Amino acid sequence: MTTATPTKSSTTEYDELITLVRKASLLGSTAALVDWDQETMMPPRGVEHRSRQLAQLASIHHHLATDPRIGDLLDACESDQRLVGVATAPEAVNIREVRRRYERHKKLPAELVEELAKVSSLAHHVWAEARKASDFDRFRPWLEKIVELNRRKAECYGWSDDGEPWDALAEDYETGCTAADVQAVFTPLRKRLQDFLSDLMASSTRPSNTFNEITLPIEQQEKFVRDVSKHIGFDYSRGRLDRSTHPFCSGTHCHDVRLTTRFHEANVNDALGSTMHESGHGIYEQGLLAEHIGTPMGHAVSLGIHESQSRMWENQVGRSREFWVWCMPKVTEYFGDAVASLGLDDLYGGANIVKPDFIRVEADELTYNMHIMIRFEIERAIMRGDLAVRDIPGVWNRTYKEYLDLDVPDDRRGCLQDIHWSSGDIGYFPTYTLGNLYSAQFFEAALEAMPDLLEQFEKGEFGGLKKWLNENIHAHGRRYRAADLCRTVTGKPLTADPLLRHLERKLRPLYGL
Ligand code: ZN
Repeated sequence: MTTATPTKSSTTEYDELITLVRKASLLGSTAALVDWDQETMMPPRGVEHRSRQLAQLASIHHHLATDPRIGDLLDACESDQRLVGVATAPEAVNIREVRRRYERHKKLPAELVEELAKVSSLAHHVWAEARKASDFDRFRPWLEKIVELNRRKAECYGWSDDGEPWDALAEDYETGCTAADVQAVFTPLRKRLQDFLSDLMASSTRPSNTFNEITLPIEQQEKFVRDVSKHIGFDYSRGRLDRSTHPFCSGTHCHDVRLTTRFHEANVNDALGSTMHESGHGIYEQGLLAEHIGTPMGHAVSLGIHESQSRMWENQVGRSREFWVWCMPKVTEYFGDAVASLGLDDLYGGANIVKPDFIRVEADELTYNMHIMIRFEIERAIMRGDLAVRDIPGVWNRTYKEYLDLDVPDDRRGCLQDIHWSSGDIGYFPTYTLGNLYSAQFFEAALEAMPDLLEQFEKGEFGGLKKWLNENIHAHGRRYRAADLCRTVTGKPLTADPLLRHLERKLRPLYGL
């Protein structure tokens, strides 16, 4: 009888490490489900008990994630060439990423984690009230507290000699992404988008807005968007679609993905865009490999890459003429006489109206990026100490005038509109525009691999794109960092060119240019 020697992919230490990692992850996914319930099903008076449940889960999670045994096992695994010899092998990826997360968790004192959770939860409540009343001064002391705690957090994490505090915070959302990197992409992008926007706004030709002005019953809208999301590839045997104020996707496992959307009688494109967007997030979560769930190899790369998947289905697919060729009979099927007078140009045009406006979440594909740039500049300056919280409204309004030629009427439609800072999330915003950029660059690569992709959309065939995304992006989990994934998939580093090409090719003809 022979004793089995450890295989290349497994040692006792590695197996124990993965068991501990999965244990923490299982608890994290349970917290995600409790959180989903809070946004969709929970009765209003459940909020206090729910916040205690979530705080308890967060505290147990922090305890599990900082277990010193993880550190010992990592030491053992890292010195074993059978595990770490090939950098892109699942074992090496898991060890590298568990180390990164473990070291970050350890840098934060438990007292700071708890203080941040507590202050964010209370600040969130004050923010909602302040927004309703359009009263920045009511929220200001809470935002000052959040900024101070985030500064402490950044100091605990640290940043490189040529970096700055914002970098330390952004690392939680987009590993390896610095303010300087973001600035290098955003500055030329802004100039080109602004010039393009001026051209569009100066044109006397505009796409038809008729489709967006028709009132349609919400019950029918819901059936319609469900049908579309199923058709593009969201698997309802492994997911759900419910309603919430702000649409989101919450993945607890690749076999249980929760999406939400919202409906307005007056604008079915809002529900359709939101549903296709969240379905894109959901298709990513469902595309992670079941055998790796609970480990970094079964986890999405970053928020920017996640956003690239949602934006691709929302914009590159859902705002293409070819999509609307396929979708037009469905619009007739679900809405009948109400849309009888509409043609393809009304549907395709209605999905592609460009109009500078105050609210980020309602912005079109082009001006959306300006909203992000403004927020990035402000949070970067705050973290550097170059801007005081009390001066945010003034800078906000001045920049909206400069970038979008808008006079912000009040703080409700200005600096109080977003939830992020009130939840303690500083460093998050740029991932939205990074998502737009990655999405356009990935889509060009998909088109190169499948030159008839757009014709497939006309026939309602979306499986080719989904399969390509499954194989090239989803199945890798965290094998590559975002920038490396981009180079691997597209052969080039991330640039703004594909997004600008995408916008120009589509919008110039629609605006008669
Ligand atoms: Zn998203």
